[in-house]
Amino acid sequence: MPDGKPAGVRCIQLDDDLRCKIFGHPDRPEVCGSLPPSEDMCGESREQAMRWLGWMEEQTAP
Ligand code: SF4
Repeated sequence: MPDGKPAGVRCIQLDDDLRCKIFGHPDRPEVCGSLPPSEDMCGESREQAMRWLGWMEEQTAP
């Protein structure tokens, strides 16, 4: 995604199992590696994580 990934848009590097296809590859954007998973952000399920991300996107929208 040469122009960046807009909020709410699925990354083209995400595979059908929701795994990053370029994890560990030097072309993986630096920001991806700088955001380590945490219990606060990820919660205990995908649903919790998506709720948190939605809230973050709302709070940081221009
Ligand atoms: S870690 Fe980065 S490159 Fe990989 S799927 Fe997520 S947003 Fe895309």
